[in-house]
Amino acid sequence: MGQRPWRLLLLPGDGIGPEVLAAVRPVLERVSWELESRSGRRIDVQEAFIGGAAVDRYGTPLPEETLRQARSADAVLLGAVGGPAWDRLEPERRPESGLLSLRRALGVYANLRPARMLPGAHSPLRADVTGRFDVLLVRELTGGLYFGEPRRRWVGQDGRRAALDTMAYDEEEIRRVALVAFAAARKRRGRVTSVDKANVLACSRLWREVVTEVAAEYRDVSLDHQLVDSTTVHLVQHPEDYDVLLTENLFGDILSDLLGGIVGQFGALASASLGAAGPGLFEPVHGSAPDLAGQDVAIPAGAILSFALACRYAFGAPDLGQFLAESVDDVLLEDAGLGTRAFGERTAQRFRARSQVALT
Ligand code: NAD
Repeated sequence: MGQRPWRLLLLPGDGIGPEVLAAVRPVLERVSWELESRSGRRIDVQEAFIGGAAVDRYGTPLPEETLRQARSADAVLLGAVGGPAWDRLEPERRPESGLLSLRRALGVYANLRPARMLPGAHSPLRADVTGRFDVLLVRELTGGLYFGEPRRRWVGQDGRRAALDTMAYDEEEIRRVALVAFAAARKRRGRVTSVDKANVLACSRLWREVVTEVAAEYRDVSLDHQLVDSTTVHLVQHPEDYDVLLTENLFGDILSDLLGGIVGQFGALASASLGAAGPGLFEPVHGSAPDLAGQDVAIPAGAILSFALACRYAFGAPDLGQFLAESVDDVLLEDAGLGTRAFGERTAQRFRARSQVALT
């Protein structure tokens, strides 16, 4: 008896989402073939609705059926959600709230975003600065200011408007994401830089304490702490100094955009969101780009590289993920002005060639 197939749920979503996921298909088929021939486990693919497409069909951005399918999958690959057609809906029916609810429901607390210079990217920084740039950002995804209670807005008796958000972390929330960062650093260059604002925030002081405790379990990984404000400066001046950046939710949100700006390649960044158990959620860093939708011009590299992360973190095949990342580099290097679909097909061809050479 062979083992059961891996289960991958595709959530195309809106705008260019369906196009970039369609470009992953030929790659996916080839990876599935490789997996089956080496371990007897192919990838079974299902597809479901999320975001605006789900609002149009079911009246909600995250239908029960989608959530059920996601929970029983080994990995979920999402395209993008949102667009002007749904901008006027009340907050809980907006496409983006479907994605936030999915992240929360799957308990994916660690968001991993690799950033490195890709062939053909136009970084605003000098090539001698970015040449060796290769960073993994590990961002806490389900705590901190974005989820803290209470949060509210009110008008005081004097008529002044006021608002309140709460930042809160407990030690377990910090510890579990720190473990992900240290484990990742061990497989890279062995350096974690933990980013906080410990000179001002109580949450950051706790963060520093707990991260330091976790570091004691990873003697082979070095740790330094850096304030978020000086990290932004240092990242722009010497991005090559960093290996793994570990930080909380809000700082991570801002730093990940900064990394995208340094890399200077829209559409080519990938992410993996992982929890303690259950499926990981893999998604390109870009949005639904309504200006490009339906024209076969969106770059699907971020979606394909997100699938490469699924190979590494969900399907136990980091080598195939690596070949896939190199195949995307090959195609970007060719710079042939390929459309979305042709980009996927060309990547699948390159992947096939690379994996055949390496595995024979
Ligand atoms: P966006 O990422 O969709 O687009 C920003 C710019 O980058 C646009 O010029 C777009 O054409 C370009 N771009 C994006 N992806 C590209 C690709 N793969 N190839 C080539 N060019 C690409 O961000 P936005 O314009 O701020 O948002 C558009 C919609 O996407 C909004 O509804 C927003 O809420 C939603 N959004 C969704 C996600 C998500 O699903 N994770 C993330 C961000 C924004």
